[in-house]
Amino acid sequence: MTLSERDQQYLWHPYTQHKTAALPIAIKRGEGALLWDENDKEYIDAIASWWVNPYGHSNKFIADAIYKQLTTLEHVLFGGFTHEPAIVLSEKLIEILPSNQQKIFFSDNGSTAVEVAIKVALQFFFNKGEKRTTIIAFENAFHGDTFAAMAASGISFYTQAFEGMFIDVVRIPAPIKGQEQESFDALKNQIKNNNCAGFIFEPLVQGAAGMVMHEPDALAKLITICNENNILTIADEVMTGFGKTGKTFAMDYVGVLPDMMCLSKALTGGTIPMAITTFTNKIFDAFYDEDINKALFHGHTFTANPTGCAAALASLELLNTPEMQTNLVRVNKNHLAFQAIIKQHDKVKTTRVLGTIFALEIKTDGAASYYGSLRNKLYDFFIENGVILRPVGNIVYILPPYIITDSQLEKIYQVVEQALEIV
Ligand SMILES: *Cc1c(COP(=O)(O)O)cnc(C)c1O
Repeated sequence: MTLSERDQQYLWHPYTQHKTAALPIAIKRGEGALLWDENDKEYIDAIASWWVNPYGHSNKFIADAIYKQLTTLEHVLFGGFTHEPAIVLSEKLIEILPSNQQKIFFSDNGSTAVEVAIKVALQFFFNKGEKRTTIIAFENAFHGDTFAAMAASGISFYTQAFEGMFIDVVRIPAPIKGQEQESFDALKNQIKNNNCAGFIFEPLVQGAAGMVMHEPDALAKLITICNENNILTIADEVMTGFGKTGKTFAMDYVGVLPDMMCLSKALTGGTIPMAITTFTNKIFDAFYDEDINKALFHGHTFTANPTGCAAALASLELLNTPEMQTNLVRVNKNHLAFQAIIKQHDKVKTTRVLGTIFALEIKTDGAASYYGSLRNKLYDFFIENGVILRPVGNIVYILPPYIITDSQLEKIYQVVEQALEIV
């Protein structure tokens, strides 16, 4: 039996209808932007394995840091104890985070980073004796699959089985071009009509919605409205963090500061699951009290796992090398050159580029569903041609590891262009 066949006996995959899905592809090895399956077929990982892997697969520098940490101190509980990797990581992160972010809380994945931020927003007002229980989020947002993160997410596909069981969330349209005023007005209305505690958003790029983008100025305006109404703002940079948008964080473009940030995905260079929620001192101070009931009673067994911290430290070091910064610029230039050509194609409706993120929307009659037939046809075509891309409905996006070569990028662009001929 092949690995793909053996998989089916016991394994249950994410976002998968096992009755209709094709057998999963068994990957045996990865190096740089490439992956090889059990038949030695080669694939270019054009989406950095769900956006986690900027520095390439099986990265030796990160692997060495992990090995060193594993053979020094693999783990210790973080309640009542601490360790150098967490301390150094907090110091390094504070150097590069927006200037008001001063406290670091660890968890295990993007959803839990969001869960922590939402719980903190709600408890912040509880601790102050103020009744504020509603969270504001964008339409078509994606913030993860745990309950509060799901509640904040606007993609009904993921959440429909649980409607009616969520914390209170109200929605506003994202301030995409031409729709900014509608977004500002909706925010003001929601604030007027609800006891809003926090506003959570994916800054500049709504990833799972199909890399839908908005301008920094529009987001700055929304944050300013929240600040004027004492509503806590949460920048979910789980996808956008660590260089994807061309700057270290998407918030670096925005000019106003968020109260909290959520980080995961590229944090450890795609090696070890880990996440961080960051806070201002104002937020921390609302929990800092003689009264134990005002503490944040949230934690995970593997909080601040030293091996994860070592992987994150090595990843940060890689991100800040001149070579990696050059890669960010190089990938962006390639994307822009491809955009200039492909946007003229008669099957292309819109294109967008920010940093290392490229997306194009294919013209369709009517709405293309998230996992619909067009999407599946495209996905199969890409896989057949040795390129891993996961279109979202009629949107094809590319978000490669930063170390991808020019010729690998060229191959991806070619396959995307060929795909336009089969739709
Ligand atoms: C992926 C993602 C999450 C969820 O992260 P997980 O690690 O999958 O739980 C949350 N927010 C954003 C913006 C994401 O892209």
